[in-house]
Amino acid sequence: MRTVVKLGTSTLTRGTPCLSPPLVIDLARQIARLEGEGEQILLVSSGAIAAGRERLGFPDLPRDIPVKQMLAAVGQPRLMAFYEQVFGLYGVTVAQVLLTRRDLSSRRGYLNARNALLALLGRGALPIINENDTVATEEIRVGDNDNLSALVANLVDADRLVLLTDQAGLYTADPRTDPGARLVEEVSGPEIGPELWKAAGGSGCGLGTGGMATKLRAADLARRSGTGCIIAAGAEPDVLLRLARGEKLGTRILPSASAVESRKRYILSGSHSPGKLTVDGGAARALARGGSLLPVGLTAVEGSFERGDTVRVTLSEGREIARGIVSYDSRDLARILRSPSDAIESILGYRFGDEVIHHNDMVLI
Ligand code: GLU
Repeated sequence: MRTVVKLGTSTLTRGTPCLSPPLVIDLARQIARLEGEGEQILLVSSGAIAAGRERLGFPDLPRDIPVKQMLAAVGQPRLMAFYEQVFGLYGVTVAQVLLTRRDLSSRRGYLNARNALLALLGRGALPIINENDTVATEEIRVGDNDNLSALVANLVDADRLVLLTDQAGLYTADPRTDPGARLVEEVSGPEIGPELWKAAGGSGCGLGTGGMATKLRAADLARRSGTGCIIAAGAEPDVLLRLARGEKLGTRILPSASAVESRKRYILSGSHSPGKLTVDGGAARALARGGSLLPVGLTAVEGSFERGDTVRVTLSEGREIARGIVSYDSRDLARILRSPSDAIESILGYRFGDEVIHHNDMVLI
């Protein structure tokens, strides 16, 4: 099971101007326990700007971008030092990962970020992800960490996205002003209905940051790629442990497609490079049995494409047998075709894995 947990500033500070050690210690205990049981967890954490303000003694500053960049630069290492200390109590190694939209939208950035996160999970480290606010100018900003956490969930094919907040979940109306407000326990079906968008306080394309509307938008993004989402209170006792045991807490937003279906749809519908790979009969049989495409079965590479592009896989007589996302660009493939995977590194000087196309990244036709 792979879970992305998102912690917002108001949860981390419990509504005060300072980071709240008790809450974070409690979540760290739960995360360490789950990791010990074999669960993979990634944390998306806000709080850099708040930590920067705290470090500088709450100066009265204008709310412009350079000030935010400066506060994030001061606060991010402080935030990580805090996590290092707290998770250290439970023997969990933390790793800082700072992303911008550029890393998530370009194909190469996407694969690189994905590889780094998977390598960290493979080592049992806890990736703690935030937006790289110090360099994220308007055009490359994700903007809010709810959205960032959904993009990360998508990036690592997470099974679950848990948005921890200071409310018990999504309500039918604002519980602070409307005594008739009820907790929405489950959201399912192909689309999220207009009444829920309204209840969350947004049209689905509004601009609020960090409110329920951005959470619902993030949940909607996650569910479309097969990741179930839960909006729950960070201060709920043992919230992560109870969710992992299947207890029904907060608002559950069920996936609208399975992860595999959504990935296949992406491969079939996404923009295709003109790239074409020709494979031999042995490789074609391996693909039909659910294997990955290895360089040894590759006999020709046509067109110019980048790592992360979708290309066609054909037999020598021209029939298309599969489509998939390549792990190597066309220049690299021209050099490693017909070679065994263990020779990749000596030919190229680096490697992105044994496969030209991993079977999870491929649709047979
Ligand atoms: N990246 C910002 C921070 O660390 C927070 C953004 C958000 O909370 O949505 O302070």
